[in-house]
Amino acid sequence: MITAADAEISRRHFLAAGGLTFAAAFLAPRGLYAEEDDLVGHALKEAARAKVTVQTLRRNISVLLGPGGNIAVLTGPDGKLLVDAEIVSARPNVSAALAGINADPVKQLINTHWHFDHTGGNEWLHEAGASILAHENTRKHLSKETRVEGWKHTFPAAPAGAIPSTVFKEDHTLHFNGDTLVLKHYLPAHTNSDISVHFTEADIFHTGDTFWNRDYPFIDYSTGGSIDGTIRAAEANLAKVTDKMIVIPGHGAVGGRADLVLFRDVMVEIRDKVAALKKQGKSLAEAVAAKPSAHYDGEWGNLFMTPSAFIALVYKGV
Ligand SMILES: [Zn+2]
Repeated sequence: MITAADAEISRRHFLAAGGLTFAAAFLAPRGLYAEEDDLVGHALKEAARAKVTVQTLRRNISVLLGPGGNIAVLTGPDGKLLVDAEIVSARPNVSAALAGINADPVKQLINTHWHFDHTGGNEWLHEAGASILAHENTRKHLSKETRVEGWKHTFPAAPAGAIPSTVFKEDHTLHFNGDTLVLKHYLPAHTNSDISVHFTEADIFHTGDTFWNRDYPFIDYSTGGSIDGTIRAAEANLAKVTDKMIVIPGHGAVGGRADLVLFRDVMVEIRDKVAALKKQGKSLAEAVAAKPSAHYDGEWGNLFMTPSAFIALVYKGV
């Protein structure tokens, strides 16, 4: 259980965090809005107001940093290719950011996984002319009613236009605007639908939500995620990354190899500490009270997930 004191600490973090408050609201199960069941509804409202900024990366690739998952944008004669599609209500700000890059239409969309903060724009982008490509489990979860216990929310089946028309199981390669994109499925990690996207010529790697840069990750146990799967995916990312590679996380600032190392180390350390507490017979409340993540909470627990909410997710899986 999350105590009233925890909720109060969370509320103060929430107030201090400013612009990303909506994210904290929906990604902190029972953390920030202890009494509010409709965290996803709140996120939808807040995402309509949150700003979306464009960061140029390398060659013809940039990233849109906004309220939901980070969007990679590849431009060129084939039109735009997007990796991820934000929360649906961010549409006006996403559209404006895309138009600010150039006037070319979006022709291809790739979803890194099925969550609403990465697939919310699927329908409008499809109507605007984009084909949608994803892992087969993304199509599966979007095609029918799906419950996410960690958000206390049941998502209805997505409209037909939002469903990926092309799916794959293990890996998939496509050529677009002179770049070769290699897509690879992770073993179950954050969900069971996670994929990475490597723009090989530009050497830019989008990890989806298997990597959050200096923020505790949400882990969706309802659709196959776990802390051990998250650590396994972090190891897979480390096996892939080089010193020259630019890494786009699902959430947080664009980073590189050192940030992936840190993420893996933090996940392993907290997992081991929480597992030891659970093995000693500590309840979740006692494990939270022992503050096993105290060393990182100041930086990692402010915006997206409160320390208590993250420890609850780890405790569940050890
Ligand atoms: Zn996610």
